[in-house]
Amino acid sequence: MIKLININKRYGDGPQAVHAVRNINLSVSPGQIMGVIGESGAGKSTLIRCVNMLEQPTSGQVLVDNQDLTLLKANQLPAARRNIGMIFQHFNLLSSRTVFANVALPLELAGMSKAAIKNRVHELLELVGLSNRAHTYPNALSGGQKQRVAIARALAPKPKVLLCDEATSALDPNTTHSILNLLKDLNRKLGLTILLITHEMQVVKSICDRVAIISDGELIEEGEVAWFFANA
Ligand code: ADP
Ligand code: ADP
Repeated sequence: MIKLININKRYGDGPQAVHAVRNINLSVSPGQIMGVIGESGAGKSTLIRCVNMLEQPTSGQVLVDNQDLTLLKANQLPAARRNIGMIFQHFNLLSSRTVFANVALPLELAGMSKAAIKNRVHELLELVGLSNRAHTYPNALSGGQKQRVAIARALAPKPKVLLCDEATSALDPNTTHSILNLLKDLNRKLGLTILLITHEMQVVKSICDRVAIISDGELIEEGEVAWFFANA
């Protein structure tokens, strides 16, 4: 579902350049949950942002659902990105919009009719357990509820892939647990393929099928989580 081939990412030029991602090859099969773990500055965020081309790799190929995103023109990217949802550490909700309106946003941008949006948003809020919060503003929600809204918004265009950029790092342990359970649930129910980055081994242990370890921009190990913990 996701295939990264020889990805390099350099920020800047010359002696000041930072080689943030070095020759990384990584594949995630349909329906798999892959965790990328590494210390701060290892290149995790750069790598995951290459998957939906929020960062343009300096070289290499990014295949998502058999489409090479590096070959697309700027005006072709929005359609390709509808197949790739993303959630973030700090949720990135719009504070001036209600929960309903946050989740509706990608559907409005895609030109869906008002009636269809209404149905779809209610279906999504039910999926993440927030049906009774449609008219609340983000400021009145807990961190876990905010992340549920962000998940509903990310899934609105029915993507096959969800990218999670430190999605539980701002949450307490109990809330982290409930969000990870939700992600696992969505993975099973929808067949959603998930690529997540984290600095916490516990996150990998609790929901990932496979794990990739990166350090100084390089992938140093990749394998099944069960195998990894049996041998670690
Ligand atoms: P991680 O997510 O593992 O903490 P990042 O991908 O954020 O790692 O960063 C990898 C390296 O790239 C770090 O040295 C960081 O300082 C550098 N970096 C990240 N973003 C930029 C940027 N926009 N411009 C220049 N350097 C950057
Ligand atoms: P059903 O069993 O009704 O065919 P699914 O189990 O496939 O539906 O999905 C349950 C709900 O999630 C449906 O409302 C569907 O529209 C929605 N859904 C299906 N796939 C995705 C996806 N990739 N992202 C977000 N929502 C989805």
